[in-house]
Amino acid sequence: MYFDTRNGQLSCSDCTPQGSPVSAGVLKAMRHICYSDDVKLFAFTLSEESETLLSAITERYVAAHISKRFKTLEFFKDLTRNREGSAL
Ligand SMILES: [Zn+2]
Repeated sequence: MYFDTRNGQLSCSDCTPQGSPVSAGVLKAMRHICYSDDVKLFAFTLSEESETLLSAITERYVAAHISKRFKTLEFFKDLTRNREGSAL
């Protein structure tokens, strides 16, 4: 499956796929996030690789639909980038 963050649409390889490829695990997590109760929203587990992909996709989706920048998120990313840089 493929997820088009701009249009918020899923498509399969039989259709004309647009957007980023999503694994079955990421797709399941996306469905869980959309359809679960607030209390159970984050009650799922993903591999680190799928978590990274889900994070990137949801961030692009939010960025495409909200014309607002999140200073706290940018600050967090700077911290993470600097930490990864210093670890090398
Ligand atoms: Zn299809």
